[in-house]
Amino acid sequence: MLVTLRHPSDADRVAAQLQALGLWTERLKSDSETRALLVRSDSAHVEPRAITAIDGVSAVWVPPTTHPKLDALAGAPVTVRGLTIGYGAPPVLISGPCSIESPEQIAESARAVRAAGGTILRGGAFKPRTSPYAFSGHGNPALGWMRDAADSAGLAVVTEVLSERDVDSVADYADMLQIGSRNMQAFGLLKAAGRAAKPVLLKRGMAATVEEWLLSAEHLLVAGASGVVFCERGLRSFDPSTRNLLDLGAVALLANVYRLPVVVDPSHAAGRRDLIQPLARAALGAGAHGLIVECHPDPAHAKSDGAQALDPRSLAGLADACHFASRENEGRS
Ligand code: PEP
Ligand code: MN
Repeated sequence: MLVTLRHPSDADRVAAQLQALGLWTERLKSDSETRALLVRSDSAHVEPRAITAIDGVSAVWVPPTTHPKLDALAGAPVTVRGLTIGYGAPPVLISGPCSIESPEQIAESARAVRAAGGTILRGGAFKPRTSPYAFSGHGNPALGWMRDAADSAGLAVVTEVLSERDVDSVADYADMLQIGSRNMQAFGLLKAAGRAAKPVLLKRGMAATVEEWLLSAEHLLVAGASGVVFCERGLRSFDPSTRNLLDLGAVALLANVYRLPVVVDPSHAAGRRDLIQPLARAALGAGAHGLIVECHPDPAHAKSDGAQALDPRSLAGLADACHFASRENEGRS
C-alpha cells in the first residue's frame, strides 16, 4: 500500500499515526523530502478511509492482493465438525500419535486425548519418512481404526494426505485433511486436497516464507477447501540443539495481525518431550488458536517420533498447564 503525503506535511507524525494503526512504513523521498510512505505487506489490514482521515495524507493506493480468498476469511474461524478454530474461539488441543500403529494403540490414544480435554485426534496413516526403510504407516486400514477410535471418544479427526491418489479415501474418514511440511508447495496435492471441500490443516514448509505459506492456503481455497488452519511446526535452522526453530513471530503475526487461524506443533519443533510444555505455553501466549501435540500410550515403543511423544499422564499435565481441561467443549457450536 502506498500513502502519498500532502506538501508540506509532517511525515514523522503521519508515520507514527499509521504505526498506531498497525501499519509499518518505509519512506519514499524525492529531493530529500518524504513524499510518500510505503506500507509493508506484513502490516495490519486497515480500511483506506481510516488512512485518508489522517491529517497530511493526500491519497492511498491499495495494490491488488495476491490472496483475495484468504483475506476475505480474516477474523473468521474455521469449523471442523462443529468445533471452531481461530480468531475469537477458545484454543483447541489436537493430539494423538505420530503414526497409527494398531486399532488398540489409536483407541488408547483417543481416550487419553479426550481425558486431557482435547477435541481432535491426530495420527498418520500415510507417513512421510526421510528413509525409505522407516515405518511409513498402515495406509487405508489405519484410517478406519482412527475413525472408530475418534467416534468412540467423541473426537474429530485430522490426518495427513500424502498423495493426490489418496485424497478421496482420506476425506472419507477425516474431518480435516493435513498437508505436511514437506508438501506445503506440492501444488497438485493442494489442488486435489482443496477439491475435497473440507477444512485443511496446512503445515508450514520448513523453509517457507509466510507469504509462500499464505499463497499455498490460497491454492487450497481456490480449489474449494472450506477453510485453512495454519500450523507452525518449526523451521530448518543452522542450530541442531532443537529439531526445528519454532517461529512464534510468524504465529503472532498470523493470529493477531492477519487474524487467521493458526495452531502450533511444539512436538515437531522441539523433537523432545521435555521442551513441549514451555513451547506450548509460549505459543498460546503468542496468540496461537490451538496446539497439535504428539502422544503415545507407550512412547518408548513408538514406531515413529517416540522421543517427542507424551505419555497419557504427561499429556494431561500439559493440558492442565495450558488450561485445556477446563475449556473442554467450550469451542463446540
Ligand atoms: C506430522 O505431523 O506427523 C508430520 C509429519 O509433521 P511435519 O509435516 O510438520 O513434519
Ligand atoms: Mn511425527
